[in-house]
Amino acid sequence: MKEFDAIVVGAGPAGSACAYSLASSGLEVLMLERGKYPGSKNVFGGRIYPYSLKELIPDYDKDAPIERNVAKEGITFMTEKSSASITFASDQPRSFTAIRSKFDRWLADKAVEKGAMLFPETKVDELIIEGNMVKGVKTGQDDVLADVVIDCEGTTATLAKKAGLSSNINPKHVSVGIKDVIELPQNVIEERFGLSENEGFAGVYVGYASSWLRGGAFIYTNKDSVSVGVVVKTVDLVEAKVEVPSIFENFKQHRAIMKLLKGGKTLEYSAHTIPEAGLAMVPKLYRGGFLICGDAAGFIINNGYTFRGVDLAISSGMAAADTIKKAKESNNFDESALSYYGKALEQRKVLPDMRTFSKGPKYMENRRLYTAYPKVICEILEEMYGIRGGTKIVRKIAIEKVKSNVSMLALIKDMLAGANAM
Ligand SMILES: Cc1cc2nc3c(=O)[nH]c(=O)nc-3n(C[C@H](O)[C@H](O)[C@H](O)COP(=O)(O)OP(=O)(O)OC[C@H]3O[C@@H](n4cnc5c(N)ncnc54)[C@H](O)[C@@H]3O)c2cc1C
Repeated sequence: MKEFDAIVVGAGPAGSACAYSLASSGLEVLMLERGKYPGSKNVFGGRIYPYSLKELIPDYDKDAPIERNVAKEGITFMTEKSSASITFASDQPRSFTAIRSKFDRWLADKAVEKGAMLFPETKVDELIIEGNMVKGVKTGQDDVLADVVIDCEGTTATLAKKAGLSSNINPKHVSVGIKDVIELPQNVIEERFGLSENEGFAGVYVGYASSWLRGGAFIYTNKDSVSVGVVVKTVDLVEAKVEVPSIFENFKQHRAIMKLLKGGKTLEYSAHTIPEAGLAMVPKLYRGGFLICGDAAGFIINNGYTFRGVDLAISSGMAAADTIKKAKESNNFDESALSYYGKALEQRKVLPDMRTFSKGPKYMENRRLYTAYPKVICEILEEMYGIRGGTKIVRKIAIEKVKSNVSMLALIKDMLAGANAM
């Protein structure tokens, strides 16, 4: 006998968005979260694109734990001794920085306010499967039954594997990210990053930042702390026989970065894996009584200048809720009824965005993006500004530097591929 209409596994952004939407329509929803509280262990870089949150909670900005509205973006190419940045500033911020322990908790509380039940410190161990249908979950000694289980457990996707929908990800497609949250006074952050009150900075760093391996580093400013981290492809770490913490230390010791973090106190350190194969790693997303959302479904877009996961997690949680509400009309939760999820993911723009950037992961595998190009850019600028008499015009410098690092053919090929993938 079912106890709930829906059981949501995991109270990250996907789970809480799904629970919020279902509970708002009067469904009885149980959220199970293994952490001490939602967000207690969740890792991310630091920025949220809020379009999907706005769809879910139109007045979210009234009380959401927004750290800063991102008014300044930067891409920095680095060598060991130099760096070249492109910055973009706007008085119309389109994203905000957040701290997951605050944000996830806030979003889960919103779902609870709508009537969802939340059980923290409760890990789901198994699915209860009868014939073609998932009927509920096992947690410790307890069996809990529902019409539908929504798997929002993040990248591990253990339950999706148990449901026979997901397989182990090829290690070639996994990166590992580590991050520090470093405390700095509010006025120091604003001075160092050139920000006004409440304005935030989001920066990505390429080249020496990841010790020339495929990946990069990031910095996001919070109210009175800075989130700083690196993400590197796991296979490259093995190949180069280096560990991420030493890459991270080198990054933080770079002159350009040291100046930004000077005097800061590390508040938090975390690490997490990131599946990055894009659309290619999205498994079958449903079966009778079961749906997968967010990271568990592989909904991540990392194209170098943007890293999107939370927005897609929220959209997919909402799409799962749309599907369940429709299935509820006919009280049918079998595979054919839940196949509506594909349509809902189209309507919520998750699959269209995944398709738009589907060439990104392949393009990002190109090692030249992390080695030759950051070097070329810095070397050109070094020569342009290093007047010694007998200096060449920029075109000549550029041709020389490109030729010494990469063939012209490869450059043209990479530029065309980049334009298609980004
Ligand atoms: C280093 C790094 C940087 C990132 N930077 C960004 C960024 O700047 N912006 C962005 O949008 N995205 C970023 N992402 C991606 C983003 O963090 C994820 O896409 C997003 O958190 C996915 O949300 P989710 O709800 O699907 O999963 P999660 O946030 O992982 O939440 C899953 C929840 O399920 C719980 N759980 C897991 N298993 C069980 C179980 N068996 N029983 C009960 N509970 C369970 C977990 O405790 C967790 O609370 C980054 C990721 C990493 C690793």
